[in-house]
This record gives sequence, structure tokens and C-alpha cells, in this order.
Amino acid sequence: MRALVTGAAGFIGSHLIDALLADGHHVTGLDDLSTGDHDNLAQAMTEPRFRFESGSVLDHARVEALTAGADVVFHLAAAVGAFVIRDQTLEGLRTNIHGTENVIEAARWHNATLVFASTSEIYGKNTTIGLREDDDRVLGSTLKFRWSYAEAKAVDESLINAYYRARALSAVIVRPFNTVGPRQTGRYGMVVPRFVRQALAGEPLTVFGDGSQIRCFCHVADVVPALIALATNPRAQGRAVNLGSTEQVTIGELASRVLAVTGSRSEIRHISYEEAYGPGYEDMARRVPDCTLAGELVGFRPRYTLDQIIDSVAREIGGRAWRPAETLR
Ligand code: UDP
Repeated sequence: MRALVTGAAGFIGSHLIDALLADGHHVTGLDDLSTGDHDNLAQAMTEPRFRFESGSVLDHARVEALTAGADVVFHLAAAVGAFVIRDQTLEGLRTNIHGTENVIEAARWHNATLVFASTSEIYGKNTTIGLREDDDRVLGSTLKFRWSYAEAKAVDESLINAYYRARALSAVIVRPFNTVGPRQTGRYGMVVPRFVRQALAGEPLTVFGDGSQIRCFCHVADVVPALIALATNPRAQGRAVNLGSTEQVTIGELASRVLAVTGSRSEIRHISYEEAYGPGYEDMARRVPDCTLAGELVGFRPRYTLDQIIDSVAREIGGRAWRPAETLR
């Protein structure tokens, strides 16, 4: 296939590109390098079937031109990370709403299949164990910046649904749940690379709140093949599909596991949400997916345990070998 990947230099985008290239596909990658890192594309840049374009999804003409000839558009470009959404709320909303609208229109115009990276944030404060794709969203006040990310992604999903029904857009929505692995930076808030870096540096691990909040972490190497399989599965058309692990862990436990896996003697330090994110922050107490649909559609079944995930991140941050090409097969 010929694929356009937006958010090419980001964490998931760059792993997706490596996998697409390994499968023999032709790939164009678009990224504005705002939070992405060109170094993530080091392997891809050696491949003649890959072309990198620096630019924003807010540039309608550019997105339109790059989509011409693509069979599939993987739209991963977005403002992400709790600190980004806090510090650049307006820019984040614009990128995540208008940028996505540009990508949708271009995909529709050029008859490309759109694979849209939505988010598990969509479910907000719904604490159901085993969130299903048609479960309710429980979002906090619009006055709290945290919910602007889920809000924007929900607008995107609604637009895609409407284009699918009214304009025959070919599209699949995916909702990744706390995807982690090498190349993810902790700079914008993501907890696993933050804890691992802190542990390896002998710094305190910063647990926000009381640490009882629950998440399920899934390795990027489990998520990427499912993205590719969903792109070409006719039964996935017009659906929203959860992708994540169901192994629950509290953030307090996560900190202990990171210490155990890395052999670090760092202390664990609790920090209030107010100190961590500023006033008025709201967290979700638990976020656990039901991934039955992804299992039925593309045989999705995560292989990496939490300890293996932590180990792969620690190897990369610690400068030890981690070979994405091997892991992704
Ligand atoms: N978190 C933490 N310490 C950190 C960074 C994050 O305790 O240094 C917490 C955060 O408040 C949240 C969880 O870890 O409860 C997961 O945060 P992340 O930003 O990785 O993903 P989220 O699930 O919030 O989208």
C-alpha cells in the first residue's frame, strides 16, 4: 500500500512507519516536529520507500497534496500529553479539531481509507472495568483544561462518523489506552518514561495524587500491527475500536515495579495534583478497556507484560540495545 502517516516523528507514528516499511509499503510521513523527534525516524530515513515532509496538518493545501495517491492515511498528528494540553490549550484544540478536519476532507476527496488515532480519554471519568466502544462518556467541566483533549477527539470522531454515513468516507477509529514503549518521552507528562528516567537517574519517582488511580499499559509493538490490520479489514469500516492491555495497575504499584525492574534505589515521592498540574486538575480513577472487538476483528491480543514494557523502556533510556524491527515482528 501507499500510506500517509501524520505525526510521523512521534512515538507511535515512527514505530508504525518502521513496521509499514518492513512490510514493503511506501510511506510518506508528515510532522511539524512540535513534540515529535526526527531522530525517531533514523531507521526509516535510510529506506528509499520513505519520504519525510515537515509541515502541519493545519496546512490544508499541504495535507490535500500529500494525500493524493495514498491508499491509507494514518492520522496520528495531535497535540498530546497532559503538560501540552495544559500549556497550549488553544493550539491543542486547533490542531486536534481543524487539523483532523483537514485530514478527513483530504482522505474523502482522494478516496483514501482513514485510520484515526482517537483516545481512551474519550471515556473520561467512566470507571467501568472493561469499557466498551459504545459506553458513555463522563467528562468534567469545559472550564478544566484536561477535558479539552477528549472534547476535541470526540468532535473528530463525530465528524468521521458523519462523513462515513453521509459522504461514504472509508474510515476506522482506534482508541489506544496508555500506549507505551521506547521513543516515548516523559517531557509532556507520560508516566512510564518519566518513572523510568527518574529511576535510572536515582531521582525520586513522582507519584501524582495518592497513587491509587488505575491504568492499563500496552506496548507500542502490540498496538502497531493492529493499526495496520484494521486499515485493510473491511469489517472494521465505520467502527471505533479499543486497543489496549487489560492488565490493571495502580500508579503507586507502577512506581514500585519500575524500581524493581530497573534495580533502582530511588525513593517514591507523592506530589499533589495541584502541584503537578496546577489548580483545578481532575484525574480519572480508573481506565480499563474491553478489547473484545479488536480481538474479533484482527486477533488483537497484547503479548507484552508490564514488566517487559518497563524493561524495554529502561533499555532504551539507559542506552542499551532495543531493536524495534525484531520486536515488531
Ligand atoms: N502520573 C504520575 N506521575 C508522573 C506522571 C503522571 O503519577 O510523573 C500519573 C497521572 O497523574 C495519571 C497517570 O500517572 O494518573 C497516567 O498519566 P499519563 O499522563 O501517562 O496518562 P493518562 O492516563 O493521564 O492519559
